[in-house]
Amino acid sequence: MIVKFWGVRGSIPVSGKEYLKYGGSTTCVEITTKNGETIIVDAGTGIRKLGIKLTSEKRKNINLIFTHAHWDHIMGFPFFKPLYAKETKIKMFGCPFAQGSVKNLFSETMHPPYFPVDFNDIKAKISYSKSCEREFLIDTVKIMPIPLSHPNSGLGYKFTEDGKSFVFLTDNELTYRHKGGLDFAGYVKFCRNADLLVHDAEFTGKEYKFTKTWGHSVFNDALRLALSASVKKFILWHHNQERTDTALDKIVGVCRKIIEKNGKSLNCSAAREGAEVKL
Ligand SMILES: [Zn+2]
Ligand SMILES: [Zn+2]
Repeated sequence: MIVKFWGVRGSIPVSGKEYLKYGGSTTCVEITTKNGETIIVDAGTGIRKLGIKLTSEKRKNINLIFTHAHWDHIMGFPFFKPLYAKETKIKMFGCPFAQGSVKNLFSETMHPPYFPVDFNDIKAKISYSKSCEREFLIDTVKIMPIPLSHPNSGLGYKFTEDGKSFVFLTDNELTYRHKGGLDFAGYVKFCRNADLLVHDAEFTGKEYKFTKTWGHSVFNDALRLALSASVKKFILWHHNQERTDTALDKIVGVCRKIIEKNGKSLNCSAAREGAEVKL
């Protein structure tokens, strides 16, 4: 399986010379199965560029999974080019929406006065699957959901193919238990021995004094999870809108020092728009 990042920023897209290295688009991850099937996780603004690529490749079948319905994870959806081609078939997995089904959510937001094109005018054929509360399969990839510790709830996922696993926990607050969320030990158990862990690391300890209960983790806590679960590769995710490239490089440096101090060999980096990991 190949994991590619199209949007790594949290909360709001950003642009400017201080964000060129890591990128400014919000959450969107593409997973390509060994048979070449496409699974997309979240429709943040990063999905726009992915849509252009999929259209140029004449890709017709697309699977779309959501973690939750906060703006930064759905705001790119109306700009996803394959929606406007009648040949496209999209299978949407939308059960984490506490606000109702994925269909209702988009028909309410992609609608005047919020947006000029009505959801009902989309040309692609969209089918909806409700079956993602328990383990499910897309092509050769087994997908195991887990509740996030986040306001308004949400789901994280473990993707496994041929014994290799990728755990994606965006928007997860490790040191405050939101309704429906797990405790730290619960997440350690879920991430145990994963080949790749991508985890929310939005805040610094100093910032967290003011942002506790907002639904995001301090990078040190995300690293503590990666070390406790003995994952092989750890990638920091959901970069704060004010986190410049220089500041992110510094955070990665701090993480690597902590890993060294612990005598561990964990591979650690910050998610970068356009980067891919082969598992
Ligand atoms: Zn978010
Ligand atoms: Zn969120």
